[in-house]
Amino acid sequence: MASLKGRVALVTGSTSGIGLGIARSLAAEGADIMMNGFASQADIDRERAAIENDFGVRAGYSGADLSKPAAVRQMVADTIAALGEVDILVNNAGIQFVAEIVDFPEEKWDAIIAINLSAAFHGIKAAAPGMKTRGWGRIINTASAHGLVGSGQKSAYVAAKHAILGLTKVAGIELANTGVTVNAICPGWVLTPLVEKQLQDRAAKSGKSVEQEKLELVSEKQPMHEFTTPEQIGALAVFLCSDAAKTITGAPISIDGGWVAE
Ligand code: NAD
Repeated sequence: MASLKGRVALVTGSTSGIGLGIARSLAAEGADIMMNGFASQADIDRERAAIENDFGVRAGYSGADLSKPAAVRQMVADTIAALGEVDILVNNAGIQFVAEIVDFPEEKWDAIIAINLSAAFHGIKAAAPGMKTRGWGRIINTASAHGLVGSGQKSAYVAAKHAILGLTKVAGIELANTGVTVNAICPGWVLTPLVEKQLQDRAAKSGKSVEQEKLELVSEKQPMHEFTTPEQIGALAVFLCSDAAKTITGAPISIDGGWVAE
């Protein structure tokens, strides 16, 4: 039996990459899905229809720009209006920018903190009261191995990812004994558009092929020279939504080929 039938999941940044993998995995377990993120209308229509047709669930879409707190609140309200509740909130949308601190554009710092960190605060604040009232909820934040360790040239990203682990802990403590758990998934390298852009930038700088850069990127940081897939992260999200995971809360959960073991 589909374990999440009757649940509604709002997955931010689910037009692409990890968010799309999580949305499809939750839908495969029967959850209705509110998608969010940027993409062409044709791509949004295709992915939304695919979720509905492949899994027999309802799928909506919110174009909320998560850099704006009011838009995050509206996205939660729109999900409740369209699908009834928010039972599962996955704060996943994220952006990256790579430069040393002395060269880091201030507007990029502000945008990364707003989208990768503050949007999760505003989303939890808006969605948690309904979960508490119903006595069941799952909040999953997509953090990163960069929530646990740093790398040069990623000041805003690493700061936001460390901070979202702090937010995860506090929300987990505050919502303990309400039926709501709050956890963070900390992936290592996942081959998505966010990482493909970094690979292309590296190849342009080094003169090496993207394929060569792929191997070097993954082996620089991970003992295991293998990318995690969005589907594997989706499967972890499904587990965090299960009864077996009901006492896991406030936790960073690594899925990173051993990155933070070193
Ligand atoms: P991606 O670029 O494929 O997807 C990012 C999603 O966020 C897209 O749907 C995009 O439209 C959406 N988004 C960006 N800005 C937005 C905004 N202002 N408002 C609403 N939506 C917005 O990237 P991804 O690799 O799938 O990343 C997803 C999450 O996983 C991010 O939080 C990222 O930091 C994290 N992560 C990725 C990796 C990796 O190796 N790819 C590793 C660890 C953590």
